[in-house]
Amino acid sequence: MDRLVSPFVGGNRVTCSASSIPVVNPGTGDTLFNLEVSTAEIVDRAVRGSYALLSTLRYETTNARAARLRLISHTICANAESIAESLSLETGKSRNNAFQEVQSCSNIFDFYASEALRLSGRYFPSLRTGEQAIVSLEPVGVVGAITPFNYPLTLLSIKVAPALAAGCPVVAKPSPETPSATLQLAELCCQAGLEPDLFNVVTGGASVGQMLIDHPLIAKISFTGSFDVGRQVAAAAASGLKRLTLELGGQSPALVAADVNSELVSLTLANQAFENAGQFCYRPARIFVESILYEQFIENLREHALSKVVASADNPEAEIGPLRNKSAYEKVMRHIQDALDHGARLLCGGNRINDQGYENGYFVSPTVLVDVDPSMLVMREETFGPVVAVTSVDCLEHAIPLANSTPYGLAGYVFCSDLDRGWRLADQIEAGSVWVNVVHHTDIQVPFGGRKASGLGREKGREGLFEYLETKTLYLGRETYDFSGV
Ligand code: NAD
Repeated sequence: MDRLVSPFVGGNRVTCSASSIPVVNPGTGDTLFNLEVSTAEIVDRAVRGSYALLSTLRYETTNARAARLRLISHTICANAESIAESLSLETGKSRNNAFQEVQSCSNIFDFYASEALRLSGRYFPSLRTGEQAIVSLEPVGVVGAITPFNYPLTLLSIKVAPALAAGCPVVAKPSPETPSATLQLAELCCQAGLEPDLFNVVTGGASVGQMLIDHPLIAKISFTGSFDVGRQVAAAAASGLKRLTLELGGQSPALVAADVNSELVSLTLANQAFENAGQFCYRPARIFVESILYEQFIENLREHALSKVVASADNPEAEIGPLRNKSAYEKVMRHIQDALDHGARLLCGGNRINDQGYENGYFVSPTVLVDVDPSMLVMREETFGPVVAVTSVDCLEHAIPLANSTPYGLAGYVFCSDLDRGWRLADQIEAGSVWVNVVHHTDIQVPFGGRKASGLGREKGREGLFEYLETKTLYLGRETYDFSGV
């Protein structure tokens, strides 16, 4: 019988439920374990346990908070190999990529340990005679952190670390498809000395997420996931007037000017677009290339796409792993077929790999579609797979309305040797982050988030910490004066 994995509440694994969900290795199709679905009683116990810590947390020193965050960072480093192993098995990403994700989480907790020490308010010595004002920052309350399947630990850490730095306990609900690294982290932290109930993990899908949002003692929801679910989360949170951060989807544009090095830029964009089999929210998905460079660029891009190694996580050479599940695969194929039906050309890919060793996972060859137009799904909706859509434009300035034409506004990319022009183009892209002549992962020091349908609020950086703080203004009089009417 498959192993049963339980939620982690109050410092223990708590067996709770009549139902469970199989968690599958997406590369092999093997069931890794069955995940218990938390009951309303367990969600309530998790939230109440966390809530009970609030009054103590609020008054503890920032040194104590920083020490706690450093403890988590060290715990992650000390257990990096085994956490990466769980992460690789449940996500299908290579061990190397899983290990990098784990290491980046350690840095996230380190960064917020420093930010906790810098928490400060403002002081107004004399707004009126004999009266002073202090603007202070208080923890918002218990945070419900709901995360998606694709980067389970990074996306969790950028919620848990600033929440703890602000003095907020967290009840996390990971994706039911990739829950084990989150559970493992919470358990390891408790074993290393983190107070029980400070970081609880409840398990299950949409219904458990809803219970968390609806719980009256949850003050704030921090959600990362798809636009459709984000809308439901926002509606549910609104009815309780909960504080809300939403990190949603994208189908980000890249603008490529005629004066760039085609070989280098196409390589850079291919690496970013196909990362994590394209299951990566701010990947460049729609590429606009100035017509003089177009033919050379698409040929370079095709070569880079073809050179990618598609393989399961146990192959150390693997660059592109499997898609998460059947419905993710079907969506990707629907987008490809729609583009072809409407006149796009397929330069490479477009197929599922069925060779021996691949048949139990949804492995799709890196796909380059060219001569796409705005009517196609790949130009309007999030594909979330290893597909890039490329089109030729006379001049990038004219492509700006097209680049901004999706409902999303998560990221944008500009490549242009004329930096002045590059900055002007970047300025016009409606997105939370724009990369000019560089492409890399986001940095923890600077904020990240979406405009338009890509989200609400910011994570990472100092801004990410403010999402877990309430501002309070304190008016202090030296004596009691009657200021009424003043
Ligand atoms: P998803 O929206 O299907 O699920 C996300 C989480 O929400 C899961 O934990 C899920 O169980 C939970 N959930 C589902 N229905 C719910 C409901 N009604 N109420 C409460 N919780 C509910 O997303 P996914 O498929 O796991 O992840 C892929 C999506 O996430 C993509 O759209 C991607 O762009 C987005 N994403 C965004 C960012 C970002 O930073 N902007 C980062 C990573 C992924």
